[in-house]
Amino acid sequence: NNIVVAIDGYSSCGKSTMAKALAKALHFIYVDSGAMYRAVALYFLRNNVDLKNADQVKEALKNVHLNFHSRDYQTHITLNDEEVSEEIRQMHVSDMVSSVAALHDVRVEMVKQQQRMGRSKNVVMDGRDIGTVVFPHAQVKIFMTADPKIRAERRYKELAPKNPEITLEEVFESLAHRDYQDTTRAESPLTRADDAIILDNTDLTPEEQLEFAISKVKP
Ligand code: C5P
Repeated sequence: NNIVVAIDGYSSCGKSTMAKALAKALHFIYVDSGAMYRAVALYFLRNNVDLKNADQVKEALKNVHLNFHSRDYQTHITLNDEEVSEEIRQMHVSDMVSSVAALHDVRVEMVKQQQRMGRSKNVVMDGRDIGTVVFPHAQVKIFMTADPKIRAERRYKELAPKNPEITLEEVFESLAHRDYQDTTRAESPLTRADDAIILDNTDLTPEEQLEFAISKVKP
């Protein structure tokens, strides 16, 4: 039987860094579920999809074809054959992705695709509802948290080189708002699965986090 490692948690708390390193160490496939919601959000933005119009949302979803391609444990995602891995990290996408991810039809479609990816292969998948909704029977579940200020600083450092106009306060507000939306939405809100192990990485190095995670997969 294949193994699923589910990693959930708040925005920018180091989930993807950990998930990538873990997948690499274990030779599992890494799936960045957030990138899928981001790519859908980008498509909706570009095509002015009215989020309040369920028919429009349904129609638009039919035209969204996502693909992960790569074996180097980075996120490379294509939206209708266009590489969008960088664009989906931009603030204009980050600021609306949670509204898109709150839509029922969007979640149904993404969860279906995620389950398909984890059905036949060993995967490390990170997101917000992987251990609760996508793979409630995942063998290993890790719920990551970190101090909100530290998270904002980390994210700011990633964004600043290419976005000189952005301030740390803006990044902090944007993360706080996204976490608020993700934890309070009606469908599949971000929450810790009862059987998830908590990993607060505020004071942990990436090596320490990886060691911790590997010890949970291979006890
Ligand atoms: O992980 P990342 O920050 O890239 O995710 C972007 C957004 O996608 C989240 O803020 C959340 O709204 C949505 N998301 C989700 N369920 C997941 C993964 C991401 O709703 N499993």
